[in-house]
Amino acid sequence: MPFHLKMESMQPTGAFKLRGAMNAARNVAPGTHTLTCCSTGNHGRAVAFAARSLGFKAIVLMSSLVPRNKVDGIRALGAEIRIVGTSQDEALAECEALARRPGIAGISPFDDAFVIAGQGTIGLEILEDLPKLKTLLVPLSGGGLAAGTALAARSINPEIRVVGLTMDRGAAMKASLEAGKPVAVREVPSLADSLGGGIGLDNKLSFAMCRDLLDEVILVSEKEIYRAMQALYHEEGHVAEGACVVGIAACLAGRVSSQEGPVATIVTGRNVDMSQFTRVVTGQDIRLGDHLLEGTPYAA
Ligand SMILES: *Cc1c(COP(=O)(O)O)cnc(C)c1O
Repeated sequence: MPFHLKMESMQPTGAFKLRGAMNAARNVAPGTHTLTCCSTGNHGRAVAFAARSLGFKAIVLMSSLVPRNKVDGIRALGAEIRIVGTSQDEALAECEALARRPGIAGISPFDDAFVIAGQGTIGLEILEDLPKLKTLLVPLSGGGLAAGTALAARSINPEIRVVGLTMDRGAAMKASLEAGKPVAVREVPSLADSLGGGIGLDNKLSFAMCRDLLDEVILVSEKEIYRAMQALYHEEGHVAEGACVVGIAACLAGRVSSQEGPVATIVTGRNVDMSQFTRVVTGQDIRLGDHLLEGTPYAA
């Protein structure tokens, strides 16, 4: 089955998120001097990058669950960092309060029309390169990426299957789609840390778009993510975050049938904690909070 990778891990800042952040930053209200956001890491980095490129100040709020390498990456782009609480929701509440002040624009990581449109350019590019694509596998967290790429891909080819992929522990969009409305889930440490966090109980756009535009959401286990990270590294030589390999994980686990090909997935980012990444590709055990993921050396 033909299987294509869209390498967003090669973007400046190491993830696709600068597409949405740049588009949103270019469309803030006149008189804005500061951009703020709440982020599991990659969005914060993208907003810091956009702010620096366009001459704004940036304040990035995040929870204490965010890995150290991501915090350092954002600080290096000149943004002010504020660590608030232990969940994305606490950081989000603080960010919303800040964004109500004059001259400060809040940029949601996923629930913003400009952000969704920016991420959607990935869908345009994939369909331009692969007009015969049958299935697009999109990593799913807050759903800005899935909403934008699904809307773009479907407007070009209404027959295309767009599937959201996420981890089987603490996936807020999946729980919300099942409940029929945004719900909160308990956030747990995952190899796919970029897919953690809630979707916002007052979600305006990304929930409804994912509900209406995704054919299905497939869940993958930490073990399957571990194996897919090994495969992408050993077979293709790519360093990528756990969040990016959920599409590859679903294929390796046999959850996408060859009838559904050609298939493409988006390798969304490379901002992985290198010491953890090294342990994964060399087959060592990984501790995720109180969950021990038993290591296995890679075998093709
Ligand atoms: C943000 C992010 C995602 C998920 O995007 P959403 O729009 O929140 O669904 C996937 N992978 C990486 C690396 C990310 O940074």
